[in-house]
Amino acid sequence: MRRTLSLFNTLTRRIEPVVPVLAGQVSLYTCGPTVYNYAHIGNLRTFLFQDLLKRTLRAAGHEVRHCMNITDVEDKIIRDSQGTLPADATNEARHGAMKALTDRFTAIFLEDLDTLRVQQADFLPKATAYVPHMIRLIQDLEAKGLAYVREGSVYYRIAGLPQYGCLAHLDREGMQMGASVDADEYERDSATDFVLWKATKPGEPWWDSPWGPGRPGWHIECSAMGMELLGDRIDIHSGGVDLIFPHHENEIAQSEGCLGHRWVNHWVHGEFLMVEGQKMAKSLGNFFTLRDLVAKGVDPIALRYAIQSNHYRKVLNFSFEGLRAAENALKRIRAFRKRMEGEGAAGGGPWKEAIDPRVRLERAREAFWAAMADDLNTPEALASIFTLINDLNAQDDHAALTREERDATLAFLDEANDMFAAWPREEASLDAAVEALIEARKAAKFAKDWALADRVRDQLRAMGIVLEDRKDGSTGWRRG
Ligand code: AMP
Ligand code: ZN
Repeated sequence: MRRTLSLFNTLTRRIEPVVPVLAGQVSLYTCGPTVYNYAHIGNLRTFLFQDLLKRTLRAAGHEVRHCMNITDVEDKIIRDSQGTLPADATNEARHGAMKALTDRFTAIFLEDLDTLRVQQADFLPKATAYVPHMIRLIQDLEAKGLAYVREGSVYYRIAGLPQYGCLAHLDREGMQMGASVDADEYERDSATDFVLWKATKPGEPWWDSPWGPGRPGWHIECSAMGMELLGDRIDIHSGGVDLIFPHHENEIAQSEGCLGHRWVNHWVHGEFLMVEGQKMAKSLGNFFTLRDLVAKGVDPIALRYAIQSNHYRKVLNFSFEGLRAAENALKRIRAFRKRMEGEGAAGGGPWKEAIDPRVRLERAREAFWAAMADDLNTPEALASIFTLINDLNAQDDHAALTREERDATLAFLDEANDMFAAWPREEASLDAAVEALIEARKAAKFAKDWALADRVRDQLRAMGIVLEDRKDGSTGWRRG
């Protein structure tokens, strides 16, 4: 069975069903990172929300073709990669220095996504590999009268496109039609003709073009790569809310100016991660990277859960209490999973009412999907899991669930885990393996075989497990 998801569409400002152009096949474009430094967990919030979206579409029975670009040429990249080169460095050397920086941070970024169990995109194009496509697109806009050249740079003529401003819901009256800016980022109250191609400046890497040496502006890359890899009609395009204007507005102008029809049906934007009321941003210096948190002992999957358990369209304030709450919630789900994997023992204690586990399970599953299909309402979807845990634990305390009931419950947990990726089956078996090794070490210590006890500790360390010997003689553990 294929389920229909509804998502808030920034274009119409309504929650609308996702109806793919090709039934059962969703094309998804997400704006990727600018790779000049470590991603901060604000950036990662956006990628985690998009991972949840993609996994939910897949779990709902759709095929998803996902493209995420890597921005590997841009003002900040140039600023940070060219500093050590002499003024007379060749263009080749300049490109080489830029590539060295972006290759390094692309690898780090992909590692971070892996750590967070974010599934890789089907297409991961680098902007620098698509410069000829961008040039062709700009030429096409020029031919259509939507672009003009000034001193070796090319600008988009926003007055030429009636729908300019439709995504950010701009007031066309207030726009400065005809004025042109070179900056890639600017505020919505200064909507002006924006740059498509930048004439080269001393100290910058450049490409040859019909307008002389230069480099692409930031917005053109997503239009070129999106149209090349996903086509002329894309189902969903996504980014953080800061991309609505000018980036996505300009993408619409470029692609629709060229195509002459609607390019993207659904624009989906995730809200910010904040710190003490301010957007987490590199420029504000108030950010954490994933690695900062892992060094403080935070389980990356707890971060994943902390972010995904909040609704993607609500501002989320980052806090360590929030992470602790996520760890506790996960412990509860994982313990329940372990309990369902076991056989249970009829305790016969008092309980409020006899329930039919199958009915409770179906109810939870329906509530879970109704919430996920309603604009990815993760808080409600997870609440249905916790209600199920309470119900079935109480029942299992009194009269053990049958093997079939336990397996059906595990199947539902697996289904939900396909989206949240925070309580997989291996986790349970890893837990069991760790417990077994801790027992083996205890036995070795009891037998005063210190060498063996140390070897077991090393083996655990290699598995990423840190042991904590407590005063009472017991041993706790955590993922290090
Ligand atoms: P960048 O690497 O700056 O191009 O940003 C990558 C993604 O992170 C974009 O989709 C941004 O919208 C998003 N982003 C940047 N800062 C934040 C934040 N504080 N919270 C959530 N998303 C963010
Ligand atoms: Zn983009």
